[in-house]
Amino acid sequence: MEIVIVGAGVIGLGTAWRAAAGGAAVTLVDPSPASGASAVAAGMLTPVSELTYGEEPLLRLGLASRDRYGAFVAELEELTGLETGYRTDGLLQVAFDSDDLRYLDDLRRFQESLGIPAEALTGRECRRAEPMLAPGVRGGLLAPEDGSIDPRRLTAALLAAAARLGVRLVRRKAARIVVEGGAAAGVGLDDGTVLRADRVLLAAGPWSGDLDGLPPGIVPPVRPVKGQVIRLRTRVPFLRRTTRGLVRGSSVYLVPRADGEIVLGATQEELGFDTRVTAGGLWELLRDARELLPGITELEFAEVTAGLRPGSPDNAPVMGPTGLPGLFAGTGHFRNGVLLTPVSADILAAMLLDGPVPEVAGPFAPARFEVPA
Ligand code: FAD
Repeated sequence: MEIVIVGAGVIGLGTAWRAAAGGAAVTLVDPSPASGASAVAAGMLTPVSELTYGEEPLLRLGLASRDRYGAFVAELEELTGLETGYRTDGLLQVAFDSDDLRYLDDLRRFQESLGIPAEALTGRECRRAEPMLAPGVRGGLLAPEDGSIDPRRLTAALLAAAARLGVRLVRRKAARIVVEGGAAAGVGLDDGTVLRADRVLLAAGPWSGDLDGLPPGIVPPVRPVKGQVIRLRTRVPFLRRTTRGLVRGSSVYLVPRADGEIVLGATQEELGFDTRVTAGGLWELLRDARELLPGITELEFAEVTAGLRPGSPDNAPVMGPTGLPGLFAGTGHFRNGVLLTPVSADILAAMLLDGPVPEVAGPFAPARFEVPA
């Protein structure tokens, strides 16, 4: 089985590794591997914290992926000898005022109605868990099974693992889909080269629908949703675990790494393909973070970046065969692509290789967006 994967972010890379392990001859096409949202993401592995009513299938997918993470990382690190910064020290969500606390209470009740344990903490208990929190923090919620990973280390390890298993990396832009006899037969590159394939996977984030030759309506419209993040550094222990805060209704999070990096994010802006970092975006992040953790102003500034989350019309992933035989979609992972990497890689590799597909994949087929004729 010859497979071409367009896009080497976490989803394309994870799938390439898994499909190669399953025996396929895989070619990855990307002019700049791991340069999209996967290079900007904070790497929270928190399926529950962004839960909203009606997103239960996405929650199940997220929990399935979180449960696979330990084994996925262990295999990846053993194969490559590279560390990924994987941590399972939980997620603390805290509320700044009483309205924020009411929201966390609602979230806890919703979680409990789904059978997911959530531990409510008083303000004092929050500060015991995270001593740098501001004295005014009203209360919180602890999700002990959540964690985080460093997405840049993860993509470096996935690139190495894919190479180990013989995946060919072509550093060019895919320009068009080659269609023969009503089926996808390969990909045309921007230098005119054609890579023939039995199956093609589009995993190019919000650019997944950009290729020439795609019949209209085949790939659901995936929009870019901009997110700005700030990377800070500390030489002394500052945060023990990923901490999310609601500050007067506005959400902010901080993800600490063992090497002293702290990722502070993130804005969410519907501005098309705009990756400019703005003063307003950074100000909002720093303002809210300082309310929760006043000591943040002492940390060293390292980097600011903006990335584009791939958002589908219902904000859930789009994974599976499209209406064009031989062409598969693997995009739309929006705010959760890093969390969803292990399960998505397994699902997409199984689909590409005609293997047994995990049941949790059911609700995420591209066919849900097909317009009836
Ligand atoms: P991308 O990583 O965007 O990769 C797409 C790749 O396609 C790129 O490398 C690009 O070069 C390539 N490409 C584009 N066009 C072409 C072409 N024509 N030919 C070949 N290649 C092409 N998720 C979490 O789970 N936890 C988090 O904490 C988290 N935080 C985030 C914070 C921010 C600020 C942002 C922006 C995202 C965050 N996410 C998080 C979401 C996560 O980053 C995405 O869901 C995930 O990275 C999507 O991966 P992808 O492989 O689909 O796309």
